Amino acid sequence: MGLIHGRWCNAKTIPMTCRYCGSDVFYFSCNCGCKVFFDELGDPWPRHYCEEYVSSLSNSTQSTILIKNTFSWELVNNDNQILLENEYEKTIIINKDKNKNKNISIEKIDPIDNETIEIIGIISEIIPEININKKFNIVSHTIGTLLLKKFDNKHYSQFTVHSLNIADRNKKSYTFLVNRNNVKNILKGDNVGVVITGNIINNQKYWLCNIIDKLEI
Ligand SMILES: [Zn+2]
Ligand SMILES: [Zn+2]
Repeated sequence: MGLIHGRWCNAKTIPMTCRYCGSDVFYFSCNCGCKVFFDELGDPWPRHYCEEYVSSLSNSTQSTILIKNTFSWELVNNDNQILLENEYEKTIIINKDKNKNKNISIEKIDPIDNETIEIIGIISEIIPEININKKFNIVSHTIGTLLLKKFDNKHYSQFTVHSLNIADRNKKSYTFLVNRNNVKNILKGDNVGVVITGNIINNQKYWLCNIIDKLEI
């Protein structure tokens, strides 16, 4: 028993590199909570599970490893068949090769006020320290303090994430501010899942990061 996943549940299929072994993999996720790394798209939908990953878990118990190995259970039925809408499945299998073309266009996604979105992609740029006053042209101390209240005097970095959902065939670019306390150990080239919200200060729109996590098998 299981849902048939596809566009209706915001399914995303994203080419990535395994951070443990360096292989090319595909990460599938949807709003139902599916999360799975595939070696290839299409029958028999081989799931990625590498020695390097297993040895990285050497401190874990066998049962933890087993739980992680069956992480994608919501995407399969009892016969271990992958449950995707026919149209969605066809599209991603066709597009996976077309997307190897390096000339794929990049679309910059501007912030939308009060909109919260979830993205999955690769960190393409990090600016470690952003001067918030300078970025938002804030000069007056009093007004500035009010405007900047939501930044809470913490230190901020600016990240850019590129996301290629092969069902859409275009790469989207998101640039956002993130509290530096939340980004330890995240580096350029890492695969991440991010939740960002659009905001406005001094007529300037920006994305602010709520959650950022490295993606793991
Ligand atoms: Zn789904
Ligand atoms: Zn791997």
